[in-house]
Amino acid sequence: MSRTFLVFAESRDGKLRQVAFETLSAARASAEAGDQVLALVVGSGASSIAGELAAYGADSIYTIEHSDLNQYNPEGYFAAVKKAIDETKPDAVLFGHTAIGRDLAPLVAASLQAGQISDVTAISRSGSDVVFTRPLYAGKAFEKRSFTSSPWVVTVRPNNIQAPAPDSGRTASVTALTYPAPSLRTIIKEVVKKTTGKIDLSEAKIIVSGGRGVKSADGFKPLEELADVLNGAVGASRGACDAGYCDYSLQIGQTGKVVTPEVYIACGISGAIQHVAGMSQSRIIIAINKDPEAPIFKIADYGIVGDLFEVVPLLTAEFRQVLN
Ligand code: FAD
Repeated sequence: MSRTFLVFAESRDGKLRQVAFETLSAARASAEAGDQVLALVVGSGASSIAGELAAYGADSIYTIEHSDLNQYNPEGYFAAVKKAIDETKPDAVLFGHTAIGRDLAPLVAASLQAGQISDVTAISRSGSDVVFTRPLYAGKAFEKRSFTSSPWVVTVRPNNIQAPAPDSGRTASVTALTYPAPSLRTIIKEVVKKTTGKIDLSEAKIIVSGGRGVKSADGFKPLEELADVLNGAVGASRGACDAGYCDYSLQIGQTGKVVTPEVYIACGISGAIQHVAGMSQSRIIIAINKDPEAPIFKIADYGIVGDLFEVVPLLTAEFRQVLN
């Protein structure tokens, strides 16, 4: 019997996020021939961006447009996802493991009395079972899990499951659903953005991260220059945030953001386990530290023992030459 997978395709500021395509890819990896992969996009302008999802593997697309959905609020978004679930009766619902997905998925799982597997980094098969891999203990171990019954709910860690190459020949039906308009118990009065026009840390392919070793807010400037040249984002350890060198929105780690870029450059970061919890799944880790015994070198693919204030500007100059 064919199954139906519903993907919550996350968008921001009228654009689909990369994680939306990766979540579609995860649904495709879980599906078998004959299964249907559906996508849901919400918010004003959803119908104008929905079509893009066909090229990435959606068989049918649902949109729900309403001003309540322009900013994330759990009640409104839950009502919208529930509407799509009631309409499509999916066997599985998939979200990105983002701030929104982490909040919304458990609400959906509870309402469906479904099992949930969170923070999935890989999907494989064992006979007819779909097997989900997720990291444990700050990436020191992995577990593989399967569901014993449906429906099920999954969240997919950004930057891990590759989005498919778009196939512009694919088409999908787009259906507008009506927003159920629940009376919201909380409303958003204003969103004050701390970082504007910068690359989102959780989606950045390259992250240049600074620790207490940068010594001051000014000490982050060479790191920002390197990140600019590499078209990357700047992150930080909690040590740097606690010292007031940068905003907590940059914090990576157990109590900060979990990132999986292709390249993570740790500058003046010792490599405490709580920091490593947020970046150990990066594809390539480069550490710059003047202490050759710093624990960060144990997990680094490349290590530079030296003063970051000498090494980082040299790297920036070199990359500027190579990339221009
Ligand atoms: P330090 O440990 O002080 O390291 C600074 C490093 O810079 C040193 O290795 C030093 O050799 C090097 N250095 C100094 N000067 C230079 C220079 N000029 N050039 C090159 N290298 C230089 N931490 C996080 O990062 N993220 C979290 O989410 C997080 N959550 C936590 C949760 C809990 C419950 C607890 C208890 C702690 C948490 N921490 C977290 C804090 C963590 O334990 C460490 O204290 C923190 O990561 C240290 O930050 P750091 O590496 O920048 O500083």
